[in-house]
Amino acid sequence: MVTVLNGSAETLAAQRSALARQLTMEAELHHALVSHEFFLEYQPIFDRDAEHMVAIEALIRWRKPNGEVVRPDVFIPVAEQSRLIVQIGRWVVTQAGHDLAQLHRAGFTDLQVNVNMAAPEFVNASLPSELMTVMAACGVAPRHLCLELTEGLVMKQPDKVIPVMAALRQQGFKISLDDFGMGHSSLSRMKKLPISSLKIDRSFVSGLPHDRGDAAIVRTILDLGRHMQLQVIAEGVETDAQLIFLRQFGCSLIQGFLLSRPKTVAELMALH
Ligand code: C2E
Ligand code: MG
Ligand code: MG
Repeated sequence: MVTVLNGSAETLAAQRSALARQLTMEAELHHALVSHEFFLEYQPIFDRDAEHMVAIEALIRWRKPNGEVVRPDVFIPVAEQSRLIVQIGRWVVTQAGHDLAQLHRAGFTDLQVNVNMAAPEFVNASLPSELMTVMAACGVAPRHLCLELTEGLVMKQPDKVIPVMAALRQQGFKISLDDFGMGHSSLSRMKKLPISSLKIDRSFVSGLPHDRGDAAIVRTILDLGRHMQLQVIAEGVETDAQLIFLRQFGCSLIQGFLLSRPKTVAELMALH
């Protein structure tokens, strides 16, 4: 009896301290937004010959006042617990739009920017018109903005999310299914999704070319993309052997540390 009581008291204490940590970080994130502590890096996505930079993916980082840089995996899940993610997402897309306009002016004329989106941003029927307004203010055409959504996000609330996706596609925005292969989308549902590309999850790319399971999955995703007329992007490409495999089986777009780590806008400008 005593053990049970102790156990539940410990659980309660652990829950309390987790909640306290969550609330503290939420407050810090609020402060970070108004104090301009967030910044973006951009990771290039290249064509299969690794010659032409076709797109860049915007990746958020948080520089704390003590100089420590926090990665999105740490704070985005916390922001997703509240409406804060919607405000952070709006900052990301606006900043990415302005940065892309600057890169277009600098000569990267047809470059596209990919922006990651979270679930709460997507269950909003006015998202398409809001994004149109943001992009028009930046002077960027909708076809130059690609929204990255995970399969999990789409499949959790398909009735709300798919109509928003369809409206975005109608306006000319692109949509990519991120971390593809990690979610639970049925093929019958997937074929109806209004998307323009798939991103093969890094966990499958990492086993190439030797892991037979990963090799089979990657080839299957490439075939699926080809038959569904979707572009396929391989992310997390770190070795020449992975690149050679992906080229051999017809992957059209490559992203990974082998070709480029995420860069600042200034570093990208210097490439031209
Ligand atoms: P993601 O969208 O799948 O982004 C790709 C992640 O893989 C990035 O990590 C990138 O730096 C990393 N990566 C790329 N190539 C390689 C490689 O060759 N090797 C290895 N080991 N890693 C590679 P990052 O920047 O830490 O972002 C992590 C995740 O945080 C993203 O995964 C995305 O889900 C989320 N995220 C990033 N920025 C945003 C944002 O603005 N909004 C939202 N909602 N989520 C974001
Ligand atoms: Mg992504
Ligand atoms: Mg990904």
